[in-house]
Amino acid sequence: MAEQPVDTVTEVPVAIVGAGPAGLMLAHRLARAGVDTVAIDIRSREEIEITQRAGIIEADAARDLIELGVSDRILRDGFEHEGVDLRFGGRSHRIDFQAQVGESVWLYPQTDVFIDLADARARDGGTVHFGVRDTEVVGETTERPIVRFTAADGTRHEIRARYVVGSDGSRSICRNLVPADQRTQFFREYPFAWFGFLCDAPKSAPELVYAHSEHGFALVSQRTESVQRMYFQCSPDDSADAWSDDRIWATMQARVAGDDGFQLVEGPVTEKSVLIFRSFVQQPMRWGSLLLAGDAAHTVPPTGARGLNLALHDVKILADVLVRALGGEGEAALADYEPAALGRVWRAQNFSWWMTQMLHTPPGALDFDVRRQLGELDNVVNTRAGRTYLAEQYTGWPARSGD
Ligand SMILES: Cc1cc2nc3c(=O)[nH]c(=O)nc-3n(C[C@H](O)[C@H](O)[C@H](O)COP(=O)(O)OP(=O)(O)OC[C@H]3O[C@@H](n4cnc5c(N)ncnc54)[C@H](O)[C@@H]3O)c2cc1C
Repeated sequence: MAEQPVDTVTEVPVAIVGAGPAGLMLAHRLARAGVDTVAIDIRSREEIEITQRAGIIEADAARDLIELGVSDRILRDGFEHEGVDLRFGGRSHRIDFQAQVGESVWLYPQTDVFIDLADARARDGGTVHFGVRDTEVVGETTERPIVRFTAADGTRHEIRARYVVGSDGSRSICRNLVPADQRTQFFREYPFAWFGFLCDAPKSAPELVYAHSEHGFALVSQRTESVQRMYFQCSPDDSADAWSDDRIWATMQARVAGDDGFQLVEGPVTEKSVLIFRSFVQQPMRWGSLLLAGDAAHTVPPTGARGLNLALHDVKILADVLVRALGGEGEAALADYEPAALGRVWRAQNFSWWMTQMLHTPPGALDFDVRRQLGELDNVVNTRAGRTYLAEQYTGWPARSGD
C-alpha cells in the first residue's frame, strides 16, 4: 500500500482512525479546544446510522452531549429512565435510580448519538472521510505518524499527524500495532450470546426489564413509542435466520412470564442478529504516538450498558491530555491517559461481568447455581446496599466525581 502514489497530503495535529462515537466525540472535543483533526471510517455514514447497538446513555455522558454543544436532541427524542426492573421469581422489582443516587439514564440509541456527532462535525466544518478502505498506519513510534487510506472516490490520501488515535472498534487494526510482546490482552468469552431484535410494537414496559428465568435471560428494552428493542440469551452457535417470529415471541414470553400476568406486546420482527459476548482489555492504551480509545482498547458484554459510555469517557480524558500535549507540556502529558481511563474500564468490566453472571443461565447450570442467583437478586433488590450498588454502577458512578 505504501508504494501507491498519494493524491492528497494533509497535515493535522491529530488523525483519528474510526469515526464511531469515540472518534467523533474526540474530534468534537478537540475542535472546541482549537485542535484540528481528520477522522476516517471504513463504513459509510448511512451504514453506521442504521446499525443497531447501544441504547442507554449514562447521566454524565448525556449532560456532555448537551453542554458541549453536540446536540440537545436527547432531551426531545430520548427518554429519561429513572430506574430499571429486575424480574425474577415471576415478578418485577424496580430499582429506583433517583431514590438511590439522584441520577437517571437516557434511552437514546447509539444511532442517534452517531447522527448528532456526525451532524456536529459537518456543521462545525470538521473533516470526516466515510467509506474509506486500505487503512494503514505507519511511523506510530515516531513523532511523525502517518495514516494512509483510499477514499470512497478512489483517491489515495496521506494524513501526516503528531498523534494518531485508534478508535476503530472491537476489530481494531490499530491495537495490533502494539507489538505482541509489548501488550497484554485480558480476555474472557462466555458460553452464551444475545439474540437481539427490533420489532414494530408499542412499549411493553416504560423502562428496561432485565429478566432472569429458568429458561434463560431476557431483556425488554425500547426504541420509540412504536419500535421496541429486545434481547434473549441464546447459544453463540445460533443463527438469526433459524428463528421465526413465532419462535422469538414464544421464547421471550416464556422468559418474562409470571404470576403477575406480565406479557409482552408482540409485533412484526424487523431486524434480528446474534451478538457474541466478550470481555476484553488491551494494555497499554498508548504506544509511541498512537493512543487507543473505546472498543479498540476494551469491550464489555452489553448487559451493564457500559460500552458506549466507556468510549465517551475515554475520549473525555484523551481530549484533555492531547490538548495539553500539543499545547506545550509535550509527550509527558500522555502518561496521564491510561491510568485515568483504565480505572473506569476495570470497574465497568466488573459491573458488566457481575450483571451477566447474575442474570444468565450457563449451559449445564446446577439447581444450586440457579437458586444462588435468585439469592443474589434477592440481595440486590431487598437490601439498601444492593439497590444503591446497582443504581450507582448503572447510572455511571457518582456524577462529576472526577473518578
Ligand atoms: C447489541 C449491542 C448492544 C449494546 N448496548 C450498549 C448499551 O446499552 N450501552 C452502552 O454503553 N454500550 C452498548 N454497546 C456497546 C457499544 O455499542 C460500543 O461500546 C460502542 O460502539 C463503542 O464505540 P467506539 O466508537 O469505541 O467503537 P465503534 O462504535 O465500533 O466505532 C468504531 C468505528 O471504527 C471503524 N473502523 C473499524 N476498522 C477501521 C479501519 N481499519 N479504518 C477506519 N475505520 C475503521 C468502524 O467502521 C466503526 O465505525 C452495545 C453493543 C452492541 C453490539
